[in-house]
Amino acid sequence: MQNGKKIHPGQIGFDIDGVVADTGGAFVRIARREYGMQGLTLDDITEFEVENCLDMDPLIINAIFARLLREPLTAGLEPMPRAVEVLTEFAALAPLTFVTARPDAAPITGWLHDMLGKDIMSGSRIVAMGEHDNKAAYIKNLGLRYFVDDRAETCIRLEQEGIVPLVYSQPWNRGRHALKTVDNWLAIRALSLV
Ligand SMILES: [Mg+2]
Repeated sequence: MQNGKKIHPGQIGFDIDGVVADTGGAFVRIARREYGMQGLTLDDITEFEVENCLDMDPLIINAIFARLLREPLTAGLEPMPRAVEVLTEFAALAPLTFVTARPDAAPITGWLHDMLGKDIMSGSRIVAMGEHDNKAAYIKNLGLRYFVDDRAETCIRLEQEGIVPLVYSQPWNRGRHALKTVDNWLAIRALSLV
């Protein structure tokens, strides 16, 4: 990326929720359909800690996120536009690496299998950390230099610890950092592939 050089696909890792998976979109759909929040839109989610920005019972917020954590497929979690296509291109060049703050790898691994298929996933690495604040150590151990994440605080920490963060643009990270932003998967692709 520096000096116009492309990022090698083997040097970049991906957060899952808010980057590969449209977790915000799924949250909004469930809140509208099952909890009567018809007026809710993605742009209303201006904080990563959703309970700080939405006028919604925290118990309901927790119930929705619990479903998205435990049963992403039946909860209706969808990939971000073009994510599957671009990840498939990356996977042809290097193993994919995902690092998530989710506490349990199994449900989201199943979801990724459904999205990307067995062949790609058999060569991929998934780390479920169970915490938000120590991603740099994991990312360095995995030999990565670049990481795509949607949580501004995570990206700021990554930069301080020598990883090059790419902030996946979402309403909850806008205006909260001065780091390089990617608006969609075609922008990620453009940084890496010819
Ligand atoms: Mg995320």
